Amino acid sequence: MPTLSDVIDVLEALWPPQRAEQWDAVGLVCGEPDAEVTRVLFAVDPVQEVAEEAVRIGANLLVTHHPLYLRGTTTVAADSFKGRVVHTLIKNDVALHVAHTNADTADPGVSDALAGALDLEVTGPLVPDPTDPAGRRGLGRVCELRQPITLREFADLAARALPRTATGIRVAGDPDQVLRTVAVSGGSGDSLFDQVRAAGVDAFLTADLRHHPASEAQQAGRFRDGRPSLVDAAHWATEWPWCEQAAAQLDEISDRHGWALRTHVSRQVTDPWTVHAHAEADEPAEPTAAPSPAAHSAAAPSPAAPSPAAHEQTSVPTSSPGAPS
Ligand SMILES: [Zn+2]
Repeated sequence: MPTLSDVIDVLEALWPPQRAEQWDAVGLVCGEPDAEVTRVLFAVDPVQEVAEEAVRIGANLLVTHHPLYLRGTTTVAADSFKGRVVHTLIKNDVALHVAHTNADTADPGVSDALAGALDLEVTGPLVPDPTDPAGRRGLGRVCELRQPITLREFADLAARALPRTATGIRVAGDPDQVLRTVAVSGGSGDSLFDQVRAAGVDAFLTADLRHHPASEAQQAGRFRDGRPSLVDAAHWATEWPWCEQAAAQLDEISDRHGWALRTHVSRQVTDPWTVHAHAEADEPAEPTAAPSPAAHSAAAPSPAAPSPAAHEQTSVPTSSPGAPS
């Protein structure tokens, strides 16, 4: 059986820490270098539920995409949620290793896994790493669809192929626009609009798009050809496919070394959003249990200002993500 330092060596060969952004905090967070590793759990977020899952399945190593501590800290006391995670892990002999922006830019990286889940053909990085002579590493990926589909169909594909979350998929653009090329970037991608425009793709799928960058990208697109349309998925869902890719990479290395490691991927939805409610514009008003005064007035209720309570639709994620294709 390998020691933790043996496994960390191969993880750092896959995702060299020196390729992480300056501001990032990657690598080993806790763990005994000489301890044996038999079972590894991969997850996006180092949250308490995931730490407990690692303990429950008997993992000796938890590998997460997001850092537990991004900035300096002076305490890991268990009276904070991060300190509680550290205590849960150390008390149960579980090491924690983080591969964040060094996994984003890797070949294959986080956005390759995202493109793979969507069955897209990657043609190259969106922001190439200048130190890679092969031109394969870097942030985001530019992709071709295997056949042209509409923006609406692409959004449906993303909803089916990515793990289900309460947020679902949001789209900015003409639903009937035909797409041939798409840029994807796992996680927050609204700093990449300049590169997306330069790539000349039909659409951009990422997460955490904010009002102003999205609105300005849409307005600027109208002066040209409407491109790129935007497809916004849940941050966690865009990065979760990397966990399966990473586990498969470690499986392959384990087989080669005869390590017989058991690898697992957490299927807990750790996206922070739990409910998505919205009113359908064309949905007729339904009677409520406690009608509002407006419902009794002689005037017809204004369709522009329906009672939100009468139209609320609520969707709650399943406890486990759907299998990416
Ligand atoms: Zn992320």
